[in-house]
Amino acid sequence: MNSPFELADQWGPYQIVHIYRPQTGLKAIVVIDNVACGPAIGGTRMAPDVSMTECARLARAMTFKNAAAGLPHGGAKSVIYHESSVTTEEKETVMRDFAGAIGSLIDYIPGPDMGTNELAMAWVQDEIGRAVGLPRELGGIPLDEIGATGLGVATAAEVAQQYCDLELKNARVAVQGFGAVGQHAARFLAERGAILVAASDSTGTLHDPSGIDVSALRQLKQNGKPVTAMQSGEIMGRDEIVGVDCDIWIPAARPDVLTEDNVNLLKAKLVIQGANIPATLEAEEIMHRKGILSIPDFIANAGGVICASVEYHGGNEAAALSVIEEKVGRNTAEVLAKAKETGQLPRTAAEEMAQDRVRTAMRMRRWS
Ligand code: NAD
Repeated sequence: MNSPFELADQWGPYQIVHIYRPQTGLKAIVVIDNVACGPAIGGTRMAPDVSMTECARLARAMTFKNAAAGLPHGGAKSVIYHESSVTTEEKETVMRDFAGAIGSLIDYIPGPDMGTNELAMAWVQDEIGRAVGLPRELGGIPLDEIGATGLGVATAAEVAQQYCDLELKNARVAVQGFGAVGQHAARFLAERGAILVAASDSTGTLHDPSGIDVSALRQLKQNGKPVTAMQSGEIMGRDEIVGVDCDIWIPAARPDVLTEDNVNLLKAKLVIQGANIPATLEAEEIMHRKGILSIPDFIANAGGVICASVEYHGGNEAAALSVIEEKVGRNTAEVLAKAKETGQLPRTAAEEMAQDRVRTAMRMRRWS
């Protein structure tokens, strides 16, 4: 890329900051994409092979994710060019150096991402008093522990019932990726009367049409065992979960797991995207044509960022859970009503909704 302005379009980036400290060797980039809705929240990624383009793309995704979630925050991202598996002491030095360098960027609120965590955010907070995803001791709300994203997934399913002729009570659920998102989604759906019939992790798929005990399976995972170690049900290949007979299919593992090559195997009526970009555009179009309702990732999995925003504004765990239900519920309803009315893909309806919100906010700002 010859110039960072090659990235410029109607939305941003508002500011790209290139950080280099010759004394310490710190190299980092902050992209504040858009601040029309408020100061921008976005993770800090630490890896040796990050790039400005990657940072800008992720920052743009945050602009629309935060707007779609209805948060008073714009989108940003930062990358630190550094190996992430280093000693705690080395990581602390890098993070404190980085924090010092972004102290004056008051439009940017960093959070954890690949290669950084709650402790890293504690160091940033200590230096500049501005970070989200903090440890509980500093007022943080541990989003994976409370199941912030899983609650949003279950809430989206609750709203979607009426759009796909489904009742959550006794609905059969399959969860691909029984990790933080998948386990809590299964737990919250079970609380709403659904039955978990399949769950997978990187080792394989557990399938039991008569119903899997969600608490027992979570306990097994917490003891470090794979889903395939469960004593009941049938064990299948990892990717066979795609074709399992169920009503609701929840991808909560990797990107691009549904493609034009395997999406026809799906038997579910409803797909709730817990993972980021779990379906290719072709797969989403095929689902749409077949009448399988698919709730896009940035609507269904916004629980985590909503939780971060509640934390930033001084709210507690109970407030986070109720705001997640309220916001994910309302946004899912708005997207599905629009998609039904226009015949659009739910993803297109969601993107337009987010863009409208950012555009409206930009008109209210002096620099628009
Ligand atoms: P996690 O590491 O806790 O869990 C991931 C699970 O997926 C693990 O059990 C792993 O064994 C399994 N897995 C990996 N590859 C698999 C495969 N090919 N098939 C089946 N299972 C596989 O991660 P997480 O925090 O639950 O995140 C899951 C996804 O959701 C990621 O795409 C993440 O970016 C996205 N996401 C997470 C959050 C959050 O709040 N944690 C928020 C938004 C989006």
